[in-house]
Amino acid sequence: SSSTQGTPVFLKAQKYADRTAIIDRNGSHSYLDLLQQSCRLSQKISSVLGASDDVKGERIAFLCPNDVSYVISQWSAWISGGVAVPLCKTHPVPELEYVLSDSQASVLLYTEDYADKAAIVAENTNIKVLQLRRENYIQKENEDMKTKVDECVDILLDLGSRSWKDRDAMIVYTSGTTGRPKGVLTTHKNLQAQVEAMVETWEWSPTDVLLHVLPLHHVHGIVNCLVTPLWAGAMVTMMEQFSAENTWKALLSASLLSQWSDSVSPRMNVFMAVPTVYAKMIEHYDKHYTKPRVRDYVKAVCREKVRLMVSGSAALPQPIMERWEEITGHRLLERYGMTEIGMALTNPLHGDRRPGTVGRPLPGVEVRIAQQTSAADPQQTTVVAQGNHSYTQVSPGMEEQEGELLVKGPAVFKQYWNRPDATTDAFTQDGWFKTGDTAVLRDGYFSIMGRTSVDIIKSGGYKISALDVERHLLAHDGIADCAVVGVSDMTWGQRVVALVVLREGASLSLGELKDWGKDRMPSYIIPSEIKVVPVLPRNAMGKVNKKELLKEFFPETAS
Ligand code: ATP
Ligand code: MG
Repeated sequence: SSSTQGTPVFLKAQKYADRTAIIDRNGSHSYLDLLQQSCRLSQKISSVLGASDDVKGERIAFLCPNDVSYVISQWSAWISGGVAVPLCKTHPVPELEYVLSDSQASVLLYTEDYADKAAIVAENTNIKVLQLRRENYIQKENEDMKTKVDECVDILLDLGSRSWKDRDAMIVYTSGTTGRPKGVLTTHKNLQAQVEAMVETWEWSPTDVLLHVLPLHHVHGIVNCLVTPLWAGAMVTMMEQFSAENTWKALLSASLLSQWSDSVSPRMNVFMAVPTVYAKMIEHYDKHYTKPRVRDYVKAVCREKVRLMVSGSAALPQPIMERWEEITGHRLLERYGMTEIGMALTNPLHGDRRPGTVGRPLPGVEVRIAQQTSAADPQQTTVVAQGNHSYTQVSPGMEEQEGELLVKGPAVFKQYWNRPDATTDAFTQDGWFKTGDTAVLRDGYFSIMGRTSVDIIKSGGYKISALDVERHLLAHDGIADCAVVGVSDMTWGQRVVALVVLREGASLSLGELKDWGKDRMPSYIIPSEIKVVPVLPRNAMGKVNKKELLKEFFPETAS
């Protein structure tokens, strides 16, 4: 397969030339525009770093809004020969400095939007900085196609002859849900494997238009929603920042897009988001789109114009899935992935999408579920189940047993940046990546039970999945949000505790919850304590850091 070559996305872009790649608040930008601007900027980067051209392996960090300047920064980092390090635009200066120093970045690119932060960083560290001016990402009106091609053709020819597969492409930091974010280093070959698997599985084509509303410092926003559609020659409409109102408007009417761009007003047909985005959109719909006529319109547009809606990054609560289907007629496609491996498991594009599951392996992905057989030696394991894109198989007598999900394949990352011990610990001796997530295979579909470290609660001999309990609790009318944790207990080892956010006007006692739960869930998984909280702290990807929750509410349990 071509995924051994490590072709970078900008080389692929040559063949889409004058097609529109990005639409944003600045207007529309063709693939050729991106190439020309990125070639120019890459030369600036090289000269800032004192190199004539190839700055092989230097880390190039960038701080950009969700618009074309981000894409040009990423491409120019690659064209110059460097490793792209996308920064989080909402991070305060100390967090930015952590990432810059951890990745040992040589240069920081930034747009005028972040000039203040960049100035402080430049003063505190000795990193070189390079400000992108508007002319670095907004095309001049009067340049024709030939001028643009002439400017970059030689550079691209040269880059096409470079060997890419062993080159490092990016360092993306994990979400920090279980600890300090770790820098995940992927090569161009890894990236190509991740992208091609998605293009094939979700049938990306040049006629697609994705509406992009996610942060651009995690793989969901970077790889799934930007590199992949651009690889396929599709169009990406970049919203500066998610808001339920604007996302609905963009979903429903092309007119909003035409405010941004007078040349084209394409209608989006692919949407990808995290569960909290869907939850916020449902909330907005329930509050503002109350007229039957409006509701019919919403459903008709979504059904007729949108071909795919995806959810991932965290478990999709079933009530959200069900309500979304009522509203839009779309059954969300839930998939599972990680910074370290790209997308690994997905419900089918065509066929039965099962609630509470993440489907099967993508092409090129090998998976296993492994159970530890010796308490003393974590290397001693037995294979419960295994599979790839074309088969799944459960070991005899191990039906429906849980274990850690292991992954192998060309999409799996190269290493944690500057953390050789963490890298060694993350793989088994025979080269499987240990996801740290517990999974189960039922009827050919994988389900994620949660993180082995915090979501698997061991209580009175049972292993209870916190995600499973959360799924049940979210079906309660009074519960708007919840996080289930295991708290140390003298008698039971651990006991199940639920932190719940109640809906407006609702109240809930433990007795009421137990009463409600007794016909709906196994008795041993019903929480033995509930704590009502005003809100659950969720990060940019909508994830709850349970270690932090434990530290705050049960400091005696937290380790
Ligand atoms: P850190 O590694 O820093 O603790 P993180 O694991 O949250 O943070 P990411 O790589 O962004 O960082 O997220 C990957 C994790 O997200 C997976 O290991 C898994 O726990 C969770 N996840 C992703 N998709 C799903 C899903 N569909 N259902 C349940 N969990 C999911
Ligand atoms: Mg992780």
